[in-house]
Amino acid sequence: MNDLLPPESARWEWLEATVRQLMARYAYRNIRTPILEHTDLFVRGIGEVTDIVEKEMYSFEDRSDKHGQFEHLTMRPENTAGVVRAVVESNLLYDGGKRLYYMGPMFRREKPQRGRYRQFHQIGAEALGFSGPDVDAELILLAHALWKAIGLADVRLELNSLGQPHERALHRARLIAHLEQHADLLDEDGRRRLHSNPLRILDTKNPAMQAVVESAPKLIDFLGAESLAHFEGLQSILKANGIAYTINPRLVRGLDYYNLTVFEFVTDRLGSQGTVCAGGRYDDLIAQIGGKAAPAVGWAMGVERVLELLKEQGAALETPAPDVYAVLPDAATVPAALRTLEALRAAGVSVQMHAGTGTSPGSMKSQFKKADGSGARYALVFGAEEFARGQVTVKALRDGAGTQRLEALDALAAWAPTLQSRPQLN
Ligand code: ATP
Ligand code: MG
Repeated sequence: MNDLLPPESARWEWLEATVRQLMARYAYRNIRTPILEHTDLFVRGIGEVTDIVEKEMYSFEDRSDKHGQFEHLTMRPENTAGVVRAVVESNLLYDGGKRLYYMGPMFRREKPQRGRYRQFHQIGAEALGFSGPDVDAELILLAHALWKAIGLADVRLELNSLGQPHERALHRARLIAHLEQHADLLDEDGRRRLHSNPLRILDTKNPAMQAVVESAPKLIDFLGAESLAHFEGLQSILKANGIAYTINPRLVRGLDYYNLTVFEFVTDRLGSQGTVCAGGRYDDLIAQIGGKAAPAVGWAMGVERVLELLKEQGAALETPAPDVYAVLPDAATVPAALRTLEALRAAGVSVQMHAGTGTSPGSMKSQFKKADGSGARYALVFGAEEFARGQVTVKALRDGAGTQRLEALDALAAWAPTLQSRPQLN
């Protein structure tokens, strides 16, 4: 679990702001659900025989208010189950489908390494109440637009279809027979899941098992006409929109709730933590969590991995800097000078004040050194004499460094915009 400090946190704010703008363009609305949920929600939703539920959840017993009994709670390892629970509880689909997005921390007890942390952050988009494949395509286009907006290169899209439960049952029998034939090559997880969740074995990251998994019967060969039509419908939309993809028959995803469409955006540049965004259709989950049956599809991206990849690509971090550094050589001017600084801020100018003037003002020289170090484009110098005359000196620190001018305090509205380098907040 990591602290996130400036200046690095600026990268996060920039990404989040970009995501918010983009979600608005696709008409996805923000949803925020609690970090704690009943453990049972994840066990039922994600599936008992999955990495997350078997070994990665932070769960604990909380003394309930009622009868001193214990409640089993878990810090959310993902957010689809929580979103679905909230949607069901508040009957959000009563008047039709909803497009939602979230951002926030998730928790999994994993072996920490680059791109794999115990508290990590996901940005997710979910479209509930639509059966696709048009909405599946919309979600993929949205992710693709995000890569473009943030300048992320080197990610490729992999697709698969998991069909429907009855199609998976046909495949399952053949898969088990194949895996049993090669039982000696399976690792401990593989042997344990052979009968409880053989599909998940295809998802293994163990290099020693790649050959067995490669030669296994492919689920796609067991899909019926309807599932195939859905899959082909998605592909034709992607093709018409110039979205490149490859079909990966081994893509099964680590959670149990998926059906039909599954997809991942992957990169080769982050080692075995190569999936930056993953998602798929989960048409049975809403009913499973107790709602009225409705189809749904969504994805979640790993913020740390996306930012890691951007850094790997050499994307520069724009260190945030104020527009103006206020140099205050005279303690007596501070109370009135602050009124000017407040007026500038209200006009949209970002101002960093030289603090500490009251006790140890610091020489002009040391204040200017701080002004330079702040990255500000201008120093605003509150010299006692000018200030008494109703004036302040504006000195350029970057472009045209050294040039300066006097400005009248009562004409602040006219010159404040010339100091401002960032867009106005509304
Ligand atoms: P992996 O196969 O890498 O373990 P996953 O299938 O468990 O990933 P999902 O549950 O699909 O991952 O989560 C969606 C995305 O969240 C992943 O593609 C990844 O980018 C990110 N993610 C998942 N677990 C972690 C983690 N422990 N640390 C950082 N990012 C993570
Ligand atoms: Mg995982």
